[in-house]
Amino acid sequence: MRNTLSAILLLTIAVVTPTQQTAPASHFDGNSWWAHVKFLADDSLEGRDTGSEGLRKAQAYAVEQLQKAGLEPAGANGFYQPVRFTQFQVDEAKSSLALVSGGQTVPLSFADDAFISSRSTRVSAVLSAPLVFIGYGLKIPEKNLDELAGLDLKGKIVVYLAGSPSDIPTALASHYQTAGERWKFLRAAGVIGTIGIANPASMDIPWSRISVNRNHPSMDLADAEFYDTPGLQIGVAFNPASAEKLFAGSAHTFAEIAALGKDRKPLPHFAMATSLKANAVIQTTSLESANIVAKLTGSDPALKNEFVVLSAHIDHVGIGAPINGDSIYNGAMDNGSGSSLVMDIAASFKAHPEKTRRSILFLLVTAEEKGLLGSKYFAAHPTVAPKSIVADVNVDMFLPIVPLKILKIGGLEESDLGTRAAAIAQSMGIKPIPDPEPLRNAFIRSDQYSFIKKGVPAVKCDVGFELGTPEQKIFKDWLTNRYHAPSDDVNQPVDLPAAAGYEEFTRRLLLDTANTAARPRWKADSFFRRYAAD
Ligand SMILES: [Zn+2]
Repeated sequence: MRNTLSAILLLTIAVVTPTQQTAPASHFDGNSWWAHVKFLADDSLEGRDTGSEGLRKAQAYAVEQLQKAGLEPAGANGFYQPVRFTQFQVDEAKSSLALVSGGQTVPLSFADDAFISSRSTRVSAVLSAPLVFIGYGLKIPEKNLDELAGLDLKGKIVVYLAGSPSDIPTALASHYQTAGERWKFLRAAGVIGTIGIANPASMDIPWSRISVNRNHPSMDLADAEFYDTPGLQIGVAFNPASAEKLFAGSAHTFAEIAALGKDRKPLPHFAMATSLKANAVIQTTSLESANIVAKLTGSDPALKNEFVVLSAHIDHVGIGAPINGDSIYNGAMDNGSGSSLVMDIAASFKAHPEKTRRSILFLLVTAEEKGLLGSKYFAAHPTVAPKSIVADVNVDMFLPIVPLKILKIGGLEESDLGTRAAAIAQSMGIKPIPDPEPLRNAFIRSDQYSFIKKGVPAVKCDVGFELGTPEQKIFKDWLTNRYHAPSDDVNQPVDLPAAAGYEEFTRRLLLDTANTAARPRWKADSFFRRYAAD
């Protein structure tokens, strides 16, 4: 299904995209990559939702491409590693949320005010509990930050603003904002539920678009070992535009909190004058999907038993609420782009073989959009020896929508893999930079994080921009209008030379990492080094 806007764009693109080859690409021209993207993002694949027929078709296509490239199967069942999931959905018709204060009950609208998150509400619950505002809701021992200090939280529902104070390094803040880490200390304090208010200063997607898909089912890995919020009875996502309602009668307004949060200033902590009354009805179902694993065996008798992983998620969010008449969320950039790169790089090693001492593992994971679940499963149960994975180069939505002059390297300062990525970019005339927008939390928002948590040095690189340039606006507009929307399809402008340059960069990074005798290591002062065994 195509919307009219896409049809108009299609006409312009036909004129704009033809090749002006400026990228330093020697093995890629962007065309074979884009052909794969077109296949994966076709309407017939229905947005590749985890567990769907569309995703199975995409995976069959990927396996065919990897086979054609001469790779060996390295899954549990040929190229496939089966993964079991449980799916959760809120039955909104039978559920309700309300705020209670001074004996008055004010119902909340799921569409406009707040909705029950099926990601954090796993069983049906009927409850009522007082609210306590806990700032950013963080406890970070390394920085002596304890936003729970002195508060009575037993049996309470906590309210927090997404984000972190500016004196906390990005990686540390990102880590402690993950649901599992946050829940560890909230649970210890006796909390029973959470209300997260999106930070208006760092929202990728406007509330209207978040809300319209709130009823999309969420998933978790079926095995109990992966359940990281036991005891959490309810999780609610709150619209910042309605958040004044929560603060009514308390000593602070949301306007005041949002203004502090915008500048990442410390926030106050206090018991609120309202309680939340909730009736959550949750439906659960089981389903199965799979990761895809293929390998290019290395040449060195010893090092070939070590693996450099090239990973990308092949799933997307499927069919959702229609926007401009289109309900297929094609996921061309997210992450048709990264999956296609994996296939294209595999093919380049067949067309232009080069010696690799270590082996390279080509990994297409499922259920990234459900919370990095496919990669979490693979990292916990790898199909190669766990200690043999030396690095993860993850590619997710690298956005070749402007010429590749700047490369944003997630993890640049954390390991010598980051240093190596920067040096390779520089050698190609591309300027490497760390993430200029740390508030977006990007380093923990894709599959590299599953590897990082197992101690494996990782990078995630993206076509970048510098703050205050016109390119920044192009990326901002892309996130606002296309990210997780049906218009992330193949009728959007794409810069093929930028894609080709990015592929060349990735190929060089894989080769260099596979051929350098020493394994990549975390920097001595990296926060993430704590996960590494050595
Ligand atoms: Zn996504």
